[in-house]
Amino acid sequence: MEEPAILSSRPRVLSGMRPTGKLHLGNYMGALANWVKLQDQYECYFFIADWHALTSNYADPSEIAPNTLDVLLDYLAAGLDPAKSVLFLQSKVLQHAELNLLLGMITPVGWLERVPTYKDQQKNLANKDLSNFGFLGYPVLMASDILLYQPKFVPVGNDQTAHVELTREVARRFNQFYKLDDREVLPEPQVLLTPSPQLPGTDGRKMSKSYGNTIQLTDPEPVVRQKLKTMVTDPARIRRSDKGDPDKCPVGDLHKVFSTPETMAKVNDGCRSAGIGCIECKGWAADGLVRVLQPIQDRRASYSVPQAVEILEDGSNRARARAEQTMHEVRSAMQMTLTSAINK
Ligand code: SF4
Repeated sequence: MEEPAILSSRPRVLSGMRPTGKLHLGNYMGALANWVKLQDQYECYFFIADWHALTSNYADPSEIAPNTLDVLLDYLAAGLDPAKSVLFLQSKVLQHAELNLLLGMITPVGWLERVPTYKDQQKNLANKDLSNFGFLGYPVLMASDILLYQPKFVPVGNDQTAHVELTREVARRFNQFYKLDDREVLPEPQVLLTPSPQLPGTDGRKMSKSYGNTIQLTDPEPVVRQKLKTMVTDPARIRRSDKGDPDKCPVGDLHKVFSTPETMAKVNDGCRSAGIGCIECKGWAADGLVRVLQPIQDRRASYSVPQAVEILEDGSNRARARAEQTMHEVRSAMQMTLTSAINK
């Protein structure tokens, strides 16, 4: 039996991630930590976008299911609470595919070709053939993912607002063509800007799975400490006696996010006066990271895989019920029902 959708007077928000594998601290600080806070203020829907993973990994989908499980466990570990939020899997809610098809009918191809990530990704992932229809159309699927839940807000970091803008344009175009009793069916969602500090990875570049420079949410303490030991520092500090600048050091950037003000003061003084060594400083940075990671890892260990899967099933049932409400309106507005012919 279908579960009822959550009934709430709180504004609805929706967001999701592609299942690319275990999540890292960059994912946590850039999205998950914010989502956890939103749960108490909004009616939240968070999903795992497994169909999106297919747009670029269609030739070998073998990793998508295991990665989905990892992302689900990371969602729960980070503190997403199934009693407060609907956690669901995109492919379990077939209405995403239906709305994708319908919105695909009204979306000009030129809009898709202009999406900056389209050309960037084709260049960056040169080892993959991304000339497929699904890859070109992924912004339509993304718009469908969002509009299907008629959310008021989409929480995103600064660098992702363009995606929501395209979704708003698609909604606007839909609403121009179709109305239901003179009412707009797909409200334009607004961007909910969430703080997303750019975390450096161990090589100093932005922390990203594709650079292989991440600290994962599941990394045990010794691994975190080892990764920090190899992390690049202020290039001006070659010898222990050289003075450094935490503002020019990726380790300094980690301190700014994870360390206490007292530690930060010790880093600032010690680095600039060459009073501390980088090894000592990195040890303090690792302390801050471990302090954040430990409760996440404890929570992850408290869920069994069957329990997590059941949570995802339950959430997907709820999401499906909510999605069907929207689709009912969409089909009626587009007159894709026989009733609309009978009533003519
Ligand atoms: S002391 Fe710390 S902040 Fe300064 S260069 Fe070394 S690691 Fe970076």
